[in-house]
Amino acid sequence: MIEAATDGVRTTCAYCGVGCGIVATRQGDRAARIQGDAAHPANHGRLCSKGTHLGETIGLEGRLLHPEIGGKRASWNKAIAHVARKFADTIAEHGPDSVAFYVSGQLLTEDYYVANKLMKGFIGSANIDTNSRLCMSSAVAGHIRAFGEDVVPASYEDFDVAQLIVLVGSNTAWCHPVVYQRIMAARAANGTKIVVIDPRRTETCQDADLHLPLKPGSDVALMNGLLAHCRAAGIVDEAFLSASVSTPEGFWDALEGCTPEATAEACDLPLESLRAFFDLFAANPRTITLFSQGINQSIRGTDQVNAIINVHLATGRIGKPGAAPFSITGQPNAMGGREVGGLASTLASHMDFAPENRDTVKRFWSSPAISPKPGLKAVDLFRSIREGRVKALWVMATNPAVSLPDAGLVRDALATCPFVAVSDCIADTDTTRFAHVKLPATGWSEKDGTVTNSDRWISRQRAIFPPAGEARHDWWIIAQVAQAMGWRDAFAYDSAADVYREHARLSAYENHGKRLFDLSHHAAITNAAYDAMEPARWGGAPFADGRFSTPDRKARLVPVTQIALQNTLPHYPMTLNNGRYRDQWHTMTRTGLSPRLSQHLREPMAEIHPMDARALGIADGDLVTVSTPSGSSVFRATLSDGQRRGEVFTPIHWTDRQSTGGRTGLLPRPLVDPHSGQPGFKNTPARVEKF
Ligand code: SF4
Repeated sequence: MIEAATDGVRTTCAYCGVGCGIVATRQGDRAARIQGDAAHPANHGRLCSKGTHLGETIGLEGRLLHPEIGGKRASWNKAIAHVARKFADTIAEHGPDSVAFYVSGQLLTEDYYVANKLMKGFIGSANIDTNSRLCMSSAVAGHIRAFGEDVVPASYEDFDVAQLIVLVGSNTAWCHPVVYQRIMAARAANGTKIVVIDPRRTETCQDADLHLPLKPGSDVALMNGLLAHCRAAGIVDEAFLSASVSTPEGFWDALEGCTPEATAEACDLPLESLRAFFDLFAANPRTITLFSQGINQSIRGTDQVNAIINVHLATGRIGKPGAAPFSITGQPNAMGGREVGGLASTLASHMDFAPENRDTVKRFWSSPAISPKPGLKAVDLFRSIREGRVKALWVMATNPAVSLPDAGLVRDALATCPFVAVSDCIADTDTTRFAHVKLPATGWSEKDGTVTNSDRWISRQRAIFPPAGEARHDWWIIAQVAQAMGWRDAFAYDSAADVYREHARLSAYENHGKRLFDLSHHAAITNAAYDAMEPARWGGAPFADGRFSTPDRKARLVPVTQIALQNTLPHYPMTLNNGRYRDQWHTMTRTGLSPRLSQHLREPMAEIHPMDARALGIADGDLVTVSTPSGSSVFRATLSDGQRRGEVFTPIHWTDRQSTGGRTGLLPRPLVDPHSGQPGFKNTPARVEKF
């Protein structure tokens, strides 16, 4: 029984894309009691350990409290003028593509909107990318290819009525715990079947009916095999295909060799397990396929996404209660960033760079210089900085010195970039160490604005405390710099509500039903209504009418084929996988402040199969070196028969601020998916040796 909190501030959790509503009650100057918000539709009062202990992470320890130029305290006026001058001078000398912003799924939608508008509509470059590129850009690319728009066609309520939930590349129990709790509640009430598809036997497998520990990177083969089986079993929805889906010539012919036997071999799975999955899928039309980083963080991520969507389109399992492909996001506001267009590959408000969209956005913003083309995606952006083509960078609310692949190159890029500004709430991060100017931003308990979660609920984040020190909201900082660069009227916002209204108006401007993303109902929202805003979901039940956002209103089946991934190399005979621990978040800048969260797993461990360990002379608890073509780091070995033979798993959280070892960020290769630009963090050839 969840007890509803009756007082306190209703806001939204700072961590993952589940987007749980919380009620925070101030306790003293800088602490708060945290309860789940029983009235929030994303969580109905449930919280996980990270959300529950947010109150331990909001003290002033480690905060950046004043602007700094060259390591010395400066006034806001001086800091803003300095950043504006550096950007203006660089643009004047080298053109708009010589500058860039690298932003974050931790920003609120209003922050994201102002940053995107400044770069794409006024500076005239699309060199604004986000750490969400590392998290779900393959899902974005897959949605656009299949649906014509980046729309997640599912809602959490679908879990409550699904007959079968397939979790692919997702340790949901640890990474999206409240969604997992909801799935388990549905299973207890309705007997919902659960299938987990993941090379590792994770905690999510504990309550599953079936676990398929497939060979890493063989997801396209698995989904193509499933699709071929659906056709053979007569469960393809021909009427839906004919009315609502474009099927390219030769699509079905290409699946002819995808027999269960061939699929089992390609995926290195027992044939009987594979058949059991196919039979479950065929017998349960109300199917949700939820996928996460195991699908997205691959150099074949977009094809893997489309392989999943193809199965749902072909069987008509979309746009109906309990039936959809469901991409779940990692960060609290990755979705809000997608909505404003905060990726280098999108323009604004779910529009791409097509000439008519550029014209629409240009007129809406009265833009002097709308960007003519997509900008540099994250990995290419830092390469361009390293090569001297991008000469001024503004990093907001993220730590790319740790989180991007090829951390050595990223650090070189930051060290050699002529001008680096960093807005952050934390004073000393791996990235702020490279900053020429540090701009103190408000933190989670001080911010005021909106976020959008994985199933499209827009929720308010509200302040519990006033800004610490001289910290300011990110949207305000960006708008001040824009004004100092000469665009005074276009960035004269009074409040977050003011920014949100403009964002809502742009979503509706000349839309005429072309895009599902439409916030016209909020275009004239008053400040008071914005302050009191309840969670509001856009998009209704997407595609329930069988119409998609393409010019012909049909979805598209996208032909995808399995290619052999290079999971091992000479001298690197194993394959490295990575992921999160239950109680830590990203590089631990926030969760590391909570004593209770730090008790769960205190050390970065390398999980290896006991037989591999024996062959390598490694005992449980030994220190081991994990090496890849990109680098090496030391971990403590833990033996687990939940690992496949020949594979090793390490956690992503540790950086050189906490530990000399455990540096998973040094290990992945800087290879990206060709469609989305998302780095392939999984499937890295590796070697493990006793230290
Ligand atoms: Fe926060 Fe995600 Fe946990 Fe919900 S599931 S409390 S949003 S970390």
